[in-house]
Amino acid sequence: MLTSEKSAELKALQMGAADFITKPFDMHDVIRARVSRIIELNEGRQLISAAEHDKLTMLYTRSFFFEYANRIYKYHPELHMDAVVINIEQFHTVNELNGFEFGDSILRIIGSEISAFLSETEGIASRVEADRFNIFCKHQDDYQALLDRFQKKMDDVSRNVSIRLRMGVKPWKADVEPMLLFDRASAACSMVRGNYKTHLMFYSEDMLARELLNRRLLNDLRAAVEEKQFKVFYQPKYRIQCDPPRLCSAEALVRWKHPELGMISPGDFIPLFEGNGQISVVDKFVWAEAARQIADWRDRFGIVVPVSVNLSRADVFHPMLVKTLTGLIEENGLEYKNMKLEVTESAYTDNASHLLDVVNHLRELGFEIEMDDFGSGYSSLNMISSMPIDVLKTDMKFIRNIEHNTKDFRLVELVVDIAKYLNVPVVAEGVETETQLQLLKNADCDLVQGYYFSRPLPAEEFEKLIIREIEIDRRNDQ
Ligand code: C2E
Ligand code: CA
Ligand code: CA
Repeated sequence: MLTSEKSAELKALQMGAADFITKPFDMHDVIRARVSRIIELNEGRQLISAAEHDKLTMLYTRSFFFEYANRIYKYHPELHMDAVVINIEQFHTVNELNGFEFGDSILRIIGSEISAFLSETEGIASRVEADRFNIFCKHQDDYQALLDRFQKKMDDVSRNVSIRLRMGVKPWKADVEPMLLFDRASAACSMVRGNYKTHLMFYSEDMLARELLNRRLLNDLRAAVEEKQFKVFYQPKYRIQCDPPRLCSAEALVRWKHPELGMISPGDFIPLFEGNGQISVVDKFVWAEAARQIADWRDRFGIVVPVSVNLSRADVFHPMLVKTLTGLIEENGLEYKNMKLEVTESAYTDNASHLLDVVNHLRELGFEIEMDDFGSGYSSLNMISSMPIDVLKTDMKFIRNIEHNTKDFRLVELVVDIAKYLNVPVVAEGVETETQLQLLKNADCDLVQGYYFSRPLPAEEFEKLIIREIEIDRRNDQ
């Protein structure tokens, strides 16, 4: 406000002027400094008043959090603050299945647990996005304990819904700004996705390389589909309670033949594409290819080798799933039982009701369902007996040690017992040695899949196994 009228000064201030300068004026530098000081003060005030706190959790909002974190970083380097990111697994489905009110209450509880934690140590926190929390806190020796504490709270308050937290940590490092620290903690946190063994990750340099690779694979997916870079390999399953063991069926396993990176194994891209739902694109290709292959072998060799394909969690939510699968059966003139569907045990426990509906529907049509990686999830005996399954596949990690570890062998026997009780066959996966095979045979296991018989093979090589079976049949007939 510029004025030469004395009486106007007060009025100007009352109307909201920040300051005033009386005319005439000549000290330009002083005036310039005064104006810029006022602008500065005003910006500061705006920053503070701009919603400091998230209404739901009462933690800081994102912008204020980073403003504050930057100040701590700048003025208190001696504090050695770590960046911690917490996230809820599949939060959108929690909202979808239980309503937003329930979702909000979960976020509120996490917020208050974080506040409780911060009252015991130095630090600040924010809900930076829907279900993403940032904590900038003094270094902790045991982050697993911290995660367990938050997870326990979740288990206590949501008895009927499984809420899983994941945590990523990037420990303090000199001269790394908070924004970058949190970027990395966040990357560590997303590495937890789909990992059933651990829900806590620390950022490492490997992870940076992994991040870059992931980004590249995500970018390259579309071209890979268009240019047919995905190949389907087939791994045989053998019936073992006969001599010699006989080829019974196969599992279709995808490979990515990348033009620059070479052969990429599914372990490197399946979890990545599962994370963003793009897995359905790959799976659809694999199912179509497998269906075509079953028909092709049937036409050329006169026998049907049933092939199991893998279903991801995201596929189960896909509205076109049933239509896609039945379409393939019809197009190729197959019977439903010729293409079996593998669903991992953890999918059953994650989202029981919807999955059960879909699986029941598929079974009514005539598809056989194999429960994959059985023993790695959390299903109780009680749940299993009511689950729609036609085959149990033991988790590979049990087989690995059955020669040396009696406890693991007992577990395999237990799985066989459960299968007997359910009246379904058992497939032991990951069998690599003769000893393992004999142990499984004695344990009354029905089928075996593993390197002992064969690695997953391209279709042309798998055909040699089919031809061998036809020869055994011919010899037996003579
Ligand atoms: P999975 O469904 O449990 O498949 C079995 C994996 O174990 C395969 O790895 C197979 O090559 C490997 N394997 C078989 N026998 C042995 C053995 O004797 N020793 C050892 N060490 N490993 C053995 P692969 O092909 O790398 O696939 C890894 C996982 O990727 C699969 O686990 C499955 O979850 C996923 N996957 C593979 N193909 C597809 C696909 O087309 N769609 C979807 N959704 N997932 C797929
Ligand atoms: Ca499988
Ligand atoms: Ca498996």
